[in-house]
Amino acid sequence: MSCLENMRALLPTSMLDWPGKLCSVLFLAGCNFRCPYCHNPELIEVGENADNITWDGLAHYLKERRGWIDGVSITGGEPTIHDDLPHLCDGLRDLGMAVKLDTNGSRPRLLAEVLSQGAVEFVAMDLKTSLDRYADVVRRPVDPLRIGESIDTIIGSGLEHEFRCTVVPGLVGREDLESLAERIGGARMLVLQQFRSDITLDPAYTGARGYPEDTMVEWAEALSRWVPTQVRGLVSTSH
Ligand code: SF4
Repeated sequence: MSCLENMRALLPTSMLDWPGKLCSVLFLAGCNFRCPYCHNPELIEVGENADNITWDGLAHYLKERRGWIDGVSITGGEPTIHDDLPHLCDGLRDLGMAVKLDTNGSRPRLLAEVLSQGAVEFVAMDLKTSLDRYADVVRRPVDPLRIGESIDTIIGSGLEHEFRCTVVPGLVGREDLESLAERIGGARMLVLQQFRSDITLDPAYTGARGYPEDTMVEWAEALSRWVPTQVRGLVSTSH
């Protein structure tokens, strides 16, 4: 699959997606997971409306804003399902854009290739639950070893990074978070995100309640014994 054929939407500016930077956010369609709480279900399938944005149009837009916005955050969907992702990252760098990448960590080889080419400055990986429960949450076959490989690649990359977990009752509990925090020991940051239930892939999750804010804060303090942990805004981003 091609990311250049699946550039579904562009958010012109965001101060929330990349800590400390003003960036555009590029949404790529297509995902290999089916998380029931997914807040962007319209981005899961490839193909539909896939020619909304062309590379030439995107390049023109970004060239005009060079020096004003700091970079581009690539998100989805899941960007690493597209084999030409390294090409897109290179192209953005050649336009003078810093690049941030969001990923679910399911394709460690492509992720390693992208990170090694030097175009990505910041990588954010979503963790869904403890590694032994992954398939139950993402509702697709998944090899936990691959998720672990991506974790190790990111931590070992030396790049700015963060791991994020959308904390959904029934799918992620304190024991899952402790297992994850221990696994990513040495990482720079773990972010606990409250899930947004106004739009969800599985209607059974629409309108569901998240954990109380006090609980999330308490857990973040406890998890910080393994890795610095924060609760961000109690509003989740794309994943
Ligand atoms: S939450 Fe992220 S990884 Fe899960 S289905 Fe949605 S886009 Fe894919």
